[in-house]
Amino acid sequence: MIEEADYQAMKKKSAAQTGVAPKTAEPFQKFPEAVLLDWDEKYLYVGSDGLPDHPMMVGITAWQQQVPLPQSYYLRNAWSIPLHPVPAANGMSAKTNFFRGAIAVAANGIPIFNPIKNDGRTDTFLAGELDEYGGHCGRADDYHYHVAPWHLAERLGPSLPLGYALDGYPIYGLAEPDGSTVNGLDSFHGHTSAAGEYHYHASKSYPYINGGFHGEVSIGGGQVEPQPSANPVRQAGDPLPGAKITGFTISADKKKYELDYSQNGRKGSVNYEILPGGSVHFTFKKPDGTTSESTSEKGKQRKGGDRPPPPPDRKAPGGTPQMETNGQPRKPWIENHLKEMDRDQDGKLSREEMMAEVNQTFTGYDADGDGKISSEEANGPGVRSSMAGFVKQHFTEVDADGSGSISLEELKAVAMKMWEKYSRGEGFSFPRSPTLEKP
Ligand SMILES: [Zn+2]
Ligand SMILES: [Zn+2]
Repeated sequence: MIEEADYQAMKKKSAAQTGVAPKTAEPFQKFPEAVLLDWDEKYLYVGSDGLPDHPMMVGITAWQQQVPLPQSYYLRNAWSIPLHPVPAANGMSAKTNFFRGAIAVAANGIPIFNPIKNDGRTDTFLAGELDEYGGHCGRADDYHYHVAPWHLAERLGPSLPLGYALDGYPIYGLAEPDGSTVNGLDSFHGHTSAAGEYHYHASKSYPYINGGFHGEVSIGGGQVEPQPSANPVRQAGDPLPGAKITGFTISADKKKYELDYSQNGRKGSVNYEILPGGSVHFTFKKPDGTTSESTSEKGKQRKGGDRPPPPPDRKAPGGTPQMETNGQPRKPWIENHLKEMDRDQDGKLSREEMMAEVNQTFTGYDADGDGKISSEEANGPGVRSSMAGFVKQHFTEVDADGSGSISLEELKAVAMKMWEKYSRGEGFSFPRSPTLEKP
């Protein structure tokens, strides 16, 4: 299984780390059985299978028929937390943004999503969607929390955070790390300590965790990017009105599972087993007494979480406009990312702002500093900038001379072409190029 190989490879990388782990690693180091840690100068990488060691799902009264399955958050699909967070010029609120994907990672390696659902209104906790530990499963059967993981506090002790927000700032509990009372929180539920360090505080009511991002994050498709993908094996389920989850068991090897529920006083269950090769066999016993079975193929890598995956950023053969799945032409890339790149927030993207984005992306990707972005660097853990996903997805097109790597000049040339079209009020698509015809 790919998962197994990625796990083994990350374990090896983790074991080979020498020197002192960054401070950001401290809370995660309390859960060595659950997380693998790796790091470089910029990021801490947190690997996990996405399954916590506490009972899951029990207590949910608003259930979408998703169940927990292990994920492969390892290597390039691990959680990346900036080691040197940078305060954003304008922070972004989680009240109006980030309804897709995680906004934080708990110390046990489980992602934490926005407490507000993708409809922008529903509080998942108040709506009964969460289990006794504040979690549930997304559309890829990926388990995640939507509120603070208070149950980790005992093992972490008062001085360590419950987890980290994806902008790289820690999330502490109800008291300061030294035990003193919390004062003066901003709208994201954070503040700067006497020592000059910013952090968030979790709470028992909204925002529950970080209420947004004080620090810089890059955004793609409405979520913080880069972040791991969950791996669905079946179609997403529908709500099962009146169902309440009453029990959940998992075998020691995490291959066999049983979820029990009741609906209108009758019992139902989902038994499922991960077969060798990675497909999953499900047996559904329904409250009406019927039983059905199905075996899911091992899924393709797609986004999990609480909403349908975004339309894939398809390459446009021959330079045709890229289409959303609803048939509408895509907005030019610059317009989609204007807000993030518009550093002075004047609603326009200046040539200087475009170039700043290019330089930030280039230096971020060029890990070995040789003046070129290799495809390996482009597919690496990534860089926090709006252009990062663009470079990854359009590597061959940006590599105009077909040398197999991207030079700063090549990236600048593409960015300037896009910017010139944008400044003339036109869209941009790559010109017909022989490299596009390759399979
Ligand atoms: Zn969720
Ligand atoms: Zn504080």
